[in-house]
Amino acid sequence: MLLELFLQALSVLLLALIVEKTPDNLGPIADLITGIVNKSSIISENLSPYRQNDGKDISVFPTSSSESIETYDFIIVGASPSGSALANRLSEVGKWNIIVLEAGGMPSPLTTIPVQCTLLSFTAYDWGAHTEPQEQHCRGNVEALTYVKTNLTDPEHPTWPDIELIFLAGTPATDFGLYIRQIFNIPKETFNVVWKPLIGKPGFTVLTQLMHPISVGYIRLRSKDSLDEPRYFTNFFSDPENIDVRAHIAGIREGQRIVSQPTMQRYGARIVDTPIPGCANFTFDTDEYWECAIRELTGSLWHQQSTCKMGPKEDKTAVVDAKLRVHGLKGLRVIDTGVIPRSISAHLTGPAYMIGEKGADIIKQDWGELRSSDQS
Ligand SMILES: Cc1cc2nc3c(=O)[nH]c(=O)nc-3n(C[C@H](O)[C@H](O)[C@H](O)COP(=O)(O)OP(=O)(O)OC[C@H]3O[C@@H](n4cnc5c(N)ncnc54)[C@H](O)[C@@H]3O)c2cc1C
Repeated sequence: MLLELFLQALSVLLLALIVEKTPDNLGPIADLITGIVNKSSIISENLSPYRQNDGKDISVFPTSSSESIETYDFIIVGASPSGSALANRLSEVGKWNIIVLEAGGMPSPLTTIPVQCTLLSFTAYDWGAHTEPQEQHCRGNVEALTYVKTNLTDPEHPTWPDIELIFLAGTPATDFGLYIRQIFNIPKETFNVVWKPLIGKPGFTVLTQLMHPISVGYIRLRSKDSLDEPRYFTNFFSDPENIDVRAHIAGIREGQRIVSQPTMQRYGARIVDTPIPGCANFTFDTDEYWECAIRELTGSLWHQQSTCKMGPKEDKTAVVDAKLRVHGLKGLRVIDTGVIPRSISAHLTGPAYMIGEKGADIIKQDWGELRSSDQS
């Protein structure tokens, strides 16, 4: 089980894995790392992503290095938010030789334009990765945030919000169906019926996001070949008591309550009542109608987490211990959002940086290099 989880963890994306030289060198993970190195570009040695080293632009991506991996004290796989923060902090210890490996080449210019990076979905930039089709969802796939507690998905923690409402200043019609429609994977036929008539009209969108879904996805290896893309099963709305759907409906009701307030009514705000194709046989605005709409149009905001959960060795679903070391392996840690033990009530980039920072402190402490200034 542990091995399976670990393999799953590796196959997720190999996010910010870190390999540390141990007294007996790399040992049994040497082959694994050699495999990763063969697939990766070498970004920078002693990388310091927040700072420019000696005025040099550290964002260059040399594609090869003559150095043997054995010359490095730390090998960081993935220049992710966590991996970059980690590299930055470890590079503060001058005597350490660090390398960051990143898959792929130069980033697309689209990554520098807000929101447009989502257009890189299903291209080489995300390895063209797709989730597996499943029956129960995606049958057809900021301005403000507010958090809502429904007591549906997480009754044990009465103060943790379980739904986030995201208010977007626009609709899929705002850009004539060019980008937003694609980002949310709205089928063209659905767009033509629901949003096309709204082109040229002012509008906003309220998205409901579950923070603690009951339904849990999983990843499976496609084959024994590590170069084969894994199979991703999102498993949305698979909980037998349908709590996730009910929580979304509670979010919709809260959105409607907000829209009905005098402040919004000053602008004549109203919910678009054109039925979603596929749901026209339900009475609009009933819970049954919304369940149908949810199952037709739900997508992902890409906050996958907890793929290499932190937990004690006795927990068969845990991959890393409290110091982020992979159970049963020497010299290998996972330091990224995969280690979060259970879903959090937040988006993940901020926490990813925090995990990188914390991971760096743990490593420095273990190697006797943690200074009091590191903790300020
Ligand atoms: C389209 C999109 C929009 C998002 N929007 C937001 C948002 O608005 N706010 C927010 O908070 N979060 C957002 N997220 C989520 C957030 O980006 C992630 O949760 C966060 O980046 C996770 O960070 P990480 O450090 O765990 O790893 P990741 O960011 O997943 O990084 C993993 C890195 O490892 C690299 N890698 C993988 N395999 C290898 C290999 N074999 N060799 C070398 N390198 C490898 C990858 O290329 C990647 O750079 C979004 C995610 C996506 C996909």
